[in-house]
Amino acid sequence: MMNYAEFHQRSIEDKAAFWGEQARLIDWHKAPEQVLDFSNPPFARWFVDGELNLSHNCIDRHLAERAEQNAIVWLSTEINRALLAEKPAVQAAFDDLGARIIVEDGCVKRHISYREFHQEVNYFADVLQRLGVDRGDRVVIYMPMIAEALFAMLACARLGAIHSVVFGGFAAHNLAMRIDDAQPKVLITADAGMRGGKVVPYKHLVDSAVEQAEFKPEHVLVVNRGLDAAMPQQNWDVDYATMRHNSVDRQASVPCAWMKSTDPSYILYTSGTTGKPKGVQRDIGGYAVALAASMNHIYDCRPGEVFWSTSDIGWVVGHSYIVYAPLLHGMTTIVYEGLPTNPDPGIWWRTIAEYRVTALFSSPTGARILKKQDPAWMDKYDLSSLQYFFLAGEPLDEPTASWLADNLDAAIVDNYWQTETGWPLLSYLPGVDLKPLRYGSPGMPVYGYDVTIRNEATGAPCQPNEKGLLTVQPPLPPGCLATVWGDDKRFISSYFSEFDGSYYSTSDWAVQDEDGYYFILGRTDDVINVAGHRLGTREIEEAICGHPLVAEVAVVGKADELKGQVPIAFCTLKDNSAMDSADKRAALEKEVFAEVVKQLGAVARPAEVYFTLTLPKTRSGKLLRRSIQAVAEGRDPGDLSTLDDPNALAGIQEIMRG
Ligand code: ATP
Ligand code: MG
Repeated sequence: MMNYAEFHQRSIEDKAAFWGEQARLIDWHKAPEQVLDFSNPPFARWFVDGELNLSHNCIDRHLAERAEQNAIVWLSTEINRALLAEKPAVQAAFDDLGARIIVEDGCVKRHISYREFHQEVNYFADVLQRLGVDRGDRVVIYMPMIAEALFAMLACARLGAIHSVVFGGFAAHNLAMRIDDAQPKVLITADAGMRGGKVVPYKHLVDSAVEQAEFKPEHVLVVNRGLDAAMPQQNWDVDYATMRHNSVDRQASVPCAWMKSTDPSYILYTSGTTGKPKGVQRDIGGYAVALAASMNHIYDCRPGEVFWSTSDIGWVVGHSYIVYAPLLHGMTTIVYEGLPTNPDPGIWWRTIAEYRVTALFSSPTGARILKKQDPAWMDKYDLSSLQYFFLAGEPLDEPTASWLADNLDAAIVDNYWQTETGWPLLSYLPGVDLKPLRYGSPGMPVYGYDVTIRNEATGAPCQPNEKGLLTVQPPLPPGCLATVWGDDKRFISSYFSEFDGSYYSTSDWAVQDEDGYYFILGRTDDVINVAGHRLGTREIEEAICGHPLVAEVAVVGKADELKGQVPIAFCTLKDNSAMDSADKRAALEKEVFAEVVKQLGAVARPAEVYFTLTLPKTRSGKLLRRSIQAVAEGRDPGDLSTLDDPNALAGIQEIMRG
């Protein structure tokens, strides 16, 4: 077995051999002879002459060995016995969709074997085909976390159509923007989703998005769950259950369209934390190979095991690790509709015990929600199956990582990546050689990525402990974005404009320690320049998080006449009674200052510290520092469409008004 460094080195120095080998994890209709075409940099084309289909690789090829194994376990804590009793239309809708459900006290479940999955995806593909969807056509999917959403994605893949899943929680305006950019022939939705026991209507939002958009899809295909009796209807609507009946009657089967490796599989928009979202275009062959390889080397999973990513299918983690990677690898994937604390804070742990989940994948936000709960919820269940808890999406602070490690008998693995990369760029490699974990660090460059931290001014590689821009030497490895949808120029200007266009810029700021571990210090937009000292917001936040009363913190730079910029901090507390008097706040403020000075020195000491009840976050759980900063500087907070709770910013506005 190779060690980490040898494995990485080989992946960079002998790309053809390394990725040629990984390509054997996939079934090719036509095996590729050329691994990489990099004749038109920075555009990399992987496995150029290969032909394959993602639906075949995720489903059909497993049928011989695992037809009766669960492909999908769907679990909803939003739909339960009480709701079924209250709304008979919901049970009727399950029946109409051919869904056999299991009703337990706190939830409703659906077990879907690979055989059934194959059948349902064939029906869905048949329905789409009858609506005129053909290879290369776009299909926008705006759906809650239900099994039909996965059927829809895999049906698109089967036909060679390009899906664009939009997080079902975005406002009409966000959806309209993406409709105009992707120009879909069909839009797939549901009548409604549910969140925290409340019905969230989807269909009426879709109607208003279609109205706002300049481009009009030909059909809106609706999976009616019987949740919203007042669902509006339009003349372009098509009812999925009705069309499916016809497919069932004909026992419709749709052959996989053999696609070129470099054909697009999907478009997915970035979270929009730093501005207008970019439409990341993914290929088919490179993505399949990268994901399959990651299940061996990074996620250390075996076919037949159960994988659970608590993300949403609308995010990149959902695309890669709820849907494609576990299915490519012949695993069972858990699809969860619900909150981590409903019906009680033991729901995640109960589910892990019940299904013997071996790998859990979540976000630091998710972990911090559970950290606020009594650890007794974890002791209640047998969690011995759980080997790994992976986290990505934002910095995993050391206290949260340690808390997880103290309470779980599983390795806590932070990995760093982006919508653009599709799979981890920095990580530990449990499947190759698991280095000692260092909490606060997402590990080291993953095989395939030729990573260098560069001085922002000169582009020269940084020394250990010297902060700089995290860059990748092109070609980007398989699985990464091929381009920005319909906009090659934006691909170059967004990612290859630094240092003469020679490197891919992550737009994140990082540092490497003497032992080779990487640390993400924040986005380049978030770097603060205090009297010539460059400070990452992340470093200061991490220091403040060391205070036992602080739950979460956002640090932003505020313009200052004397120093250029000064850091100011907004904290939420574990116990709000600690901020209920001016005296208490003043005492706490002193302690926070002391914590920062102790860890980072006086330059990093925030000019102001505020205590607040909530911090503004994107729908994907990321702190919206650009808006906090704008408010702190008395500017317009900008595009707030990705904000989760619009009131969170109002709290900060109030503080700033004094
Ligand atoms: P946009 O690019 O539209 O502004 P976004 O960058 O928030 O939105 P994503 O692709 O969802 O959209 O997020 C990727 C970013 O999340 C990374 O560039 C990094 O800033 C942050 N991130 C992801 N994983 C980690 C991690 N493990 N540690 C620290 N930061 C992380
Ligand atoms: Mg980004």
